[in-house]
Order: sequence, then C-alpha cells, then structure tokens
Amino acid sequence: MKNISRRSFNTKLSKGLAGTAFLSSVGLGYGFSPEKEKKKLGIALVGLGGYSTGQLAPALQDTEHCYLAGIVTGTPAKEKLWVEQYNIPKKNVYNYENFDSIAKNKNIDIVYVVLPNSMHAEFSIRAAKAGKHVICEKPMAVSVKECDAIMNACNDAGVKLSVGYRMQSDPYTNEIKRMVKEKPFGDVHYVSSDAGYISRGNPDQWRLDHALSGGGALMNMGVYSIQSNIYGTGQNPISVAAQEFSSRPEYFKDTDETITAQMNFPDGVVGNLFTSHNANANRLFVSFEKGWAELNPCHSYGPLSGRTSEGKEIKFPHQSQQKLQMDDFAKHIMMGTINYAPGEMGKRDMIIVEAIYKSIKEGGKTISLDLGDMGIVRA
Ligand code: NAD
Repeated sequence: MKNISRRSFNTKLSKGLAGTAFLSSVGLGYGFSPEKEKKKLGIALVGLGGYSTGQLAPALQDTEHCYLAGIVTGTPAKEKLWVEQYNIPKKNVYNYENFDSIAKNKNIDIVYVVLPNSMHAEFSIRAAKAGKHVICEKPMAVSVKECDAIMNACNDAGVKLSVGYRMQSDPYTNEIKRMVKEKPFGDVHYVSSDAGYISRGNPDQWRLDHALSGGGALMNMGVYSIQSNIYGTGQNPISVAAQEFSSRPEYFKDTDETITAQMNFPDGVVGNLFTSHNANANRLFVSFEKGWAELNPCHSYGPLSGRTSEGKEIKFPHQSQQKLQMDDFAKHIMMGTINYAPGEMGKRDMIIVEAIYKSIKEGGKTISLDLGDMGIVRA
C-alpha cells in the first residue's frame, strides 16, 4: 500500500512535470538546479519477464529521479495485471506493434529494453527513433555490429544511452574501483573473476537458444566477469585467449556451457575469467602488490560481501542496485552527471565477447585487442 500511494503521488507529480523534464532531457538546459532535482523521468519497461517483474518494477517504486510510467508487452494478459498493480494509465500501455507511437507520449522519457538479447537492438533503435532515452539490458546486443547500430541511432536522435550494468552503480564495485585508483595496497598484479550458475530449467528457454540469446554462459554471465576484470584492473585488456568446456551437451545443444579466458592488461597485469551455466560462481579477487581484496558474492543483487588482506570487511548498507542504476541514469539525463554504463562500455564488452568466441574457434589462440580506454568510466 505504501508503495502504491507513493507511486500515485509520483504519477501526479510527473504528469505536471514530464513535458519540461523531457525538454531538459533532450538537451535544453543541463546543469543542476534544485527545481530540476525534484522532477522524475517516466520509464517504460519493454518486456515484462522475470527481471522486469522481480527487480525493475519493485525498484521503480523507490527510485528518486524516475518512476514506472508505462509498459510495452506482447502478452495482453500481463497488461491488466500491471495496470492494476502499478496504477499505470491505459494510454501508457503499448504492445510490440504499436510501440513506435510512444513517440507522442510525453509521460515517457526513458525506454528500458528488457527482452531476450537478440531483440535488444531492434527495440533500442525503435525507442531512439521515437525520441526516447534508452536503457538496454545486458548484454547490449548479440554482436558489435548491433551495438554500433544502437549507438548510431541514439546519436542521430540526440538521446542518451545506457546499458543495464547495475553493478556499475553498486557501492561494493565502486570500493574496488577506489582501491584500484588510490592504491592502498599498491598496483594491481592479478585479477580473477567468476560468474555462473547451474541451469537446469526448460531446455527450450531462450537463454539456451542461440538465435535469441546470441550465445550461452558468456553472453549471459560472462559479461559480469569481463566487467569486473576491467574495473578490477582499471584498464582494458590488450589480448585474450579462451577455452570452452562441455559436460552436458545434451542440455546445452545450442549455446556455450562453460568458458575460461585469460586476459593480458597493460603493464603485465593478468586477468582470469570463468563463466558457466553449469557451475555456481560469483566472486572477484584482486591481487595488489601488497595485499588483496575479494568480493564474494560479487555479481548478484546483494547484499554483497567483501574483505581485504588486512582482515577488514568491505561493508555498505544494502540498497537495490536497480534503484541506484536507474536513478544514476535519470540524474545523468537531467543533471548531466556521469553515465556509469554508457553504450561504449556495452560495445567494448561485446568486442571482448567476440574475441573470446574467436579464440575458442581458433583452438585457444591469443587474440589481440586494441581498445585503448574505450568504455572506461573514471568517476
Ligand atoms: P525472461 O525470459 O524472464 O523474460 C523475457 C521477456 O521477453 C518475457 O516477458 C517474454 O514474454 C518476452 N519475449 C518477447 N519475445 C520473446 C521471445 N521470442 N522469446 C522469449 N521471450 C520473449 O527474461 P529476463 O530474465 O527478464 O531477461 C530479459 C533481459 O534482461 C535479458 O537480456 C537478460 O540478459 C537481462 N537481465 C539482466 C539482469 C541484470 O541483472 N542486469 C538480470 C536478469 C535479466
């Protein structure tokens, strides 16, 4: 009840302010002002599956700078449920066919694409063409080419783009970034990051269907390991070599089950990646010259947990990562603050994903990468 009444209030507030928020969001006046800070941007979720239902919609009841304004779904039965549960006006409800008419809806500032991976590019591009800012779930797309197409569409439309990398707004992740930058234990020499879970569900689910997922464990969980290798070193890798393992080929018919990869970073820093749909793994270990830091669990929704070689616990009050992530993006749009997960970061990770698949295809060959500082966000 508490959430619903707060939402009703937010809806009323936003109805009056959405027009001006949209103007500021498309570039007519960045810069902080107390008046702008009070505004909330309207988000429309596209795809009302597990993540939208279990994480994003609940988080949007607590966000300070955005709210759940609309939905886009291909399942009529879900419309009624969501409209009732979240008090969403009927005029803010779309399906995949009439989605483009969202362009005319001033209550919607941001479209959040939460569909199977192979649908990210189409709906992100349609959202950009409708003049809406875009959050695209991870992995950003199923190829580098598609990432380029999304980025170009957003640039052409003059809208902002972010990837659903909730970890980039998480305080534990940011504590590791701080240690890498401020060097309390000296320079990083080695990073190891694991992300996986045991998949035993329906063998026909889209995550195991290459046409919809673009790949298996690497696409789904491996991007977390790529991300934490990079923020755990503060640099992009200069090469990668990878291996694939399969123990349940009858279940993983179409997608990769387990992948390991070794990355070289500048200055001789070594990174190790493990990702799997057949092993539970959720850890980051950063080895510095004079100590270490570990997050375990590292990539889940929290509460996370961490410690250092000094025996000190890394601890922050638990907050919804999704709330932090969506508020960070709304602030970026309204106040010009940092975009913690820009499209360039999603594209960079897809370049690494493609290099890992290439290495596996070529028998573990080392693939050189020329990423420079692409997608590195220094807060
Ligand atoms: P899900 O299977 O629970 O939901 C998928 C949604 O897409 C459903 O509403 C389904 O009806 C719809 N859909 C439309 N066309 C479809 C098709 N052809 N096949 C299957 N479903 C179709 O998936 P999810 O867990 O909500 O994941 C959606 C996206 O969110 C994925 O890209 C996933 O990687 C991402 N995700 C991110 C996080 C995170 O922590 N950032 C967590 C979970 C999922």
